[in-house]
Amino acid sequence: MTRARICVIGAMDEEIAEFLSHAKMLNIVERRSFRFHEASLFGVPVVVVKCGVGKVFAALIAQTLIDTYQPAAVISTGVAGALSKSLRIGDVVVGRDSAHHDMDARALGFMRGHIPYTDFRFFTTDEKFSELALAARLDGGHKIVHGRILSGDQFVSGDREATHGHLTGELSGDAVDMETAAIAQVCAVNETPFVSIRTISDHADGSAHIDFNTFLPVIASNSFHIIRKMLVGISEQ
Ligand code: SAH
Repeated sequence: MTRARICVIGAMDEEIAEFLSHAKMLNIVERRSFRFHEASLFGVPVVVVKCGVGKVFAALIAQTLIDTYQPAAVISTGVAGALSKSLRIGDVVVGRDSAHHDMDARALGFMRGHIPYTDFRFFTTDEKFSELALAARLDGGHKIVHGRILSGDQFVSGDREATHGHLTGELSGDAVDMETAAIAQVCAVNETPFVSIRTISDHADGSAHIDFNTFLPVIASNSFHIIRKMLVGISEQ
């Protein structure tokens, strides 16, 4: 099946579980260790995949999806650590843009995050898909904000000022994860619309590992609820 569809990428089982339980499954394609779930979700043809944690897996799966399905858009779903002090666990960040916080060629005169010898630093999100996401509402008083998501191959925790002040300072990030910017970069190169929807699982601080494990199974569904609204909106267009 190669007609235009929406591809959804999550890093972990908990992040795609609800998509799979609501999907009308059409076919599961196994390639290497990955499972591509071809399905219909709220009337929209989708492919849902777990890519695994980190930027390399995320990029590998994004390019495979684009080559195989020529999707109308790619959505990255999952959880992230909060950098902005106004975000609480369970709130959702709809990526306005994203960058690699571990891309650092400052010694060569490039700004942190700037990919040397390219125009890439901040990858902007598709406006139409952002608008659909921002129009959603969540139960439990959780808010949905438009923000900057930083990504790196690092679970960010510990003392902010001592170890990662540059994420909020120099890079003005609102949330931090390990996949978004990698998928965004692949989508930018392929001119494929992209949006990342990330529920806050922790505060990227000294308690991050405890909060992450406690809240992941509960709050990953907030991203799902927003993407459900987006898909329903798309199917009605
Ligand atoms: N499940 C693994 C760890 C996953 S790493 C384990 O327990 O061993 C964390 C995942 O959640 C990544 O996919 C990342 O995108 C996201 N994430 C949540 N909080 C994060 C943080 N503080 N820093 C970086 N990534 C975070």
